[in-house]
Amino acid sequence: MSKVKFYQGGNVPLEMHKVRIVQKLNLPPVERRLEAIQEAGNNTFLLKNRDVFMDMLTDSGVNAMSDNQLAAMMQADDSYAGSETFTKLENKIQEIFDKKFFLPAHQGRACENILAQALVKPGTIVATNYHFTTTKAHITLQSGSVEELIIDEGLNINSTHPFKGNMDVDKLKALVEKHGAEKIAFVRLEAGTNLIGGQPFSLENMKEVYKVCRDFGIILILDASLLADNLYFIKEREDAYKNLSIREITRIMSELSDIIYFSARKLGCARGGGICTNSEDIYMKLREYITLYEGFLTYGGMSVREMEAITVGLEETMDENMINQGPQFIAYMVEKLKEKGIPVVTPAGGLGCHIDAMQFVSNIPQSQYPAGALAAALYIASGVRGMERGTLSEQRDENGNETFANVELLRLAMPRRVFTLSQVDYAIDRIVWLYENRQLIEGLTFVEEPKVLRFFFGKLKAVSDWQRKLAAKFRADFGDSL
Ligand SMILES: *Cc1c(COP(=O)(O)O)cnc(C)c1O
Repeated sequence: MSKVKFYQGGNVPLEMHKVRIVQKLNLPPVERRLEAIQEAGNNTFLLKNRDVFMDMLTDSGVNAMSDNQLAAMMQADDSYAGSETFTKLENKIQEIFDKKFFLPAHQGRACENILAQALVKPGTIVATNYHFTTTKAHITLQSGSVEELIIDEGLNINSTHPFKGNMDVDKLKALVEKHGAEKIAFVRLEAGTNLIGGQPFSLENMKEVYKVCRDFGIILILDASLLADNLYFIKEREDAYKNLSIREITRIMSELSDIIYFSARKLGCARGGGICTNSEDIYMKLREYITLYEGFLTYGGMSVREMEAITVGLEETMDENMINQGPQFIAYMVEKLKEKGIPVVTPAGGLGCHIDAMQFVSNIPQSQYPAGALAAALYIASGVRGMERGTLSEQRDENGNETFANVELLRLAMPRRVFTLSQVDYAIDRIVWLYENRQLIEGLTFVEEPKVLRFFFGKLKAVSDWQRKLAAKFRADFGDSL
């Protein structure tokens, strides 16, 4: 895709696949969208798919699958123990990551549960470039704590830093010196750092983190759920490695990791997950938890069909023409929005396009969830479903006070190979309209607030009747068209 140059200039990302199965979409009128978001308690997680036009909630389990993946699913070997399908997946993991031991799990957070149960003791610390919601929940459930050591630039919304997901190595050394290595349960590097806008870390940074871990005898864990994007960015942005193949870069990252785990809902474009390592000691520690929580060691809660699809999907991830589709569509969207003066996270990362709600709706205080309000407003304006990644996605502290998020983002995930460029243009068009009408958007307040992972189920209402006014303005501007 990146190698194709347009003769007339104005390069756009060119798809290196064709669409052979389609799903019909429904774009309900703005009046229905207004009703639907209110029925969903202003929580985009609670919208019904039939009311959604472009589902940009997540990239989890919704990337398009290839013909080869679907074909492989038909040949799955269904048996409780000793499945041939499992052997194929295990071999593929060994081949790509060069790790001897593979433990299957039903998704990414299941891996996190097992790693936290086995490795996090009460009072220990997990040092990470940045937390992920489910990761942090599992670590705190084991009475451990999380220290985020992202470089300062990582939290800078508008930046030209190519690797905002880097860990600050000096902060890591200081942390270890302050608490002692035995207090550090493990160091966790998250590829394609999710919550700060799908931002990658560099291979150079990983090497430095590895060196500190070796010096102090600390386990280094790679969360490879968003590895595909991170691999692409290393190849694109890191001069020292641009001549290596995706497979070679993967191998180096793998050599630097004691444990790799991933959500195959993202990596491999299917549904499942797994953990791999070369340490027999770690393998034996983790193994019993797999049989307890996930299933027998040759399926770990996954269907054999999905395991077949993951095996093929992992191989396809080694193809630069495959993994560049997401980041290039995202870069297209980010550039177009930036040209219109709309505040987006830069540089463009993986995973999706992230709009800075703190600037977009600067009138809304953090206590009224600006990113959540913006997600609801965009749905009303377009039928596009995004996800709040801000204060709503945090949990209250032990005294019940809000922990205000560092950044208030509306994430518009770009499921790989799912949308066409004209659909992306539609989303851009409606965001531009919304930006010009942003003074109509106000905040949200909780009606029902669950204690754990409240962003999944919580219900909110608008602080005034701003949503009705927004829908009315849409109708006035667009006449009787959708
Ligand atoms: C999605 C994700 C997870 C959790 O994976 P699930 O399969 O959704 O449970 C963990 N880490 C990162 C970085 C993720 O993006």
